[in-house]
Amino acid sequence: MQQHIDTYDFTGKKAIVRVDFNVPLDENFNITDDTRIVRAMPTLKKVLEKGGSLIIMSHLGRPKKADPKFSLSHIVDHVSECLGVPVKFAPDCQAADEAAAALKPGEALLLENLRYYAEEEGKPRGLAEDASDEEKAAAKKAVKESQKAFTKKLASYADCYINDAFGTAHRAHASTALIAAYFPDDKMFGYLMEGEIKAIDNVLKNAQHPFTAIIGGSKVSSKLAVLENLLPKVDNLIIGGGMGYTFIKAEGGQIGNSLHEDELLPQAKEILARAKELGKKVYLSRQTRVTEKFDNDAPSKLVPSHQIPEGWEGMDCGPESSELWREVILGSKTILWNGPVGVFEMPNFAKGTLEIARDLADATAKGAYTLVGGGDSVAAVTQMGFADKVSYVSTGGGAMLEAIEGKDLPGIAAVRD
Ligand code: AMP
Repeated sequence: MQQHIDTYDFTGKKAIVRVDFNVPLDENFNITDDTRIVRAMPTLKKVLEKGGSLIIMSHLGRPKKADPKFSLSHIVDHVSECLGVPVKFAPDCQAADEAAAALKPGEALLLENLRYYAEEEGKPRGLAEDASDEEKAAAKKAVKESQKAFTKKLASYADCYINDAFGTAHRAHASTALIAAYFPDDKMFGYLMEGEIKAIDNVLKNAQHPFTAIIGGSKVSSKLAVLENLLPKVDNLIIGGGMGYTFIKAEGGQIGNSLHEDELLPQAKEILARAKELGKKVYLSRQTRVTEKFDNDAPSKLVPSHQIPEGWEGMDCGPESSELWREVILGSKTILWNGPVGVFEMPNFAKGTLEIARDLADATAKGAYTLVGGGDSVAAVTQMGFADKVSYVSTGGGAMLEAIEGKDLPGIAAVRD
């Protein structure tokens, strides 16, 4: 049975906690953004306050074997500082028995990078490129077998399991999902995970209407499932950014050299037709800032989004689009935003995305529930200084995307089941 961190008795217990400490490091192994560490602190501190001890586990980067470049030892001092207790370090996550057994209430131990082992992901490594299908199947079977022992070992260190790593909740890895089975009555979510789940439920299950989704970014192909899942739920769909041009083309517009995916024109047409059938409003870009070169300093001009001249490409939405979208956003009670509406990394083409961030902040101030979910829109809202002016900013890119595609995330399901 799933427990709750607020009511669980941690006195004298060891909690193994999966966090997402996959933080960016510079060439001297200094942490350049500690957001992920900071966001896990409420959970970790709670366990210590309640008389428990911590065994903290995470991945860092994508090492394919033990590699000092990806060692979590680089972050142990900073984690100690944030937690307020000296955190011990176990240089091998599969040989931490003694260190775990020696933990006293109020103490913490950080395990070395889980991804040093193929068993964490359960995927074979080092297979020859020309391996036969039989060899591949045998390697897969072998790693799945040894994954059981790997998971059991991690579980053996602790009395209870907490998953607070939303960033990896869409992966069925040993530490994110499989381990929960060893704690049938002693498993729970951490506060960060709980916040993310609540945010997802607020938009997908309990949305106040009108509900508007703003979907931008580069490719329709990566957002197709998102659009399909959201369409029946929303009242308004704003489609912007690079992916918007495929929809504009599907409507018969001229898009010049703008980013688009011809092979997805039928799906784009289908989404537009279904929206009409369901009585949902779709708002594409009305006006576009175009250039002749994909370059921040290229001269630009504003044109109607359906009449982009040959040789010019759409880089950002124009003020007329922002104005139209602003009205829709400010008239909504629930707003979900995923994906920038322009090439926001280039300062000259960040205006449209900045306007969306500002609109979301204004809608939030008026009482709307606003969720910013998924990679680049999170970067945009943070970079533009609006992160604390919206209701919730998700920490998980891929995980949030899969959640809004309507998928059951293994890291969540394992604790709930
Ligand atoms: P995604 O990862 O699919 O959310 O896409 C994010 C990327 O979309 C960002 O790197 C943006 O620069 C890019 N993007 C947004 N609008 C455009 C556009 N009009 N043309 C090209 N790329 C764009």
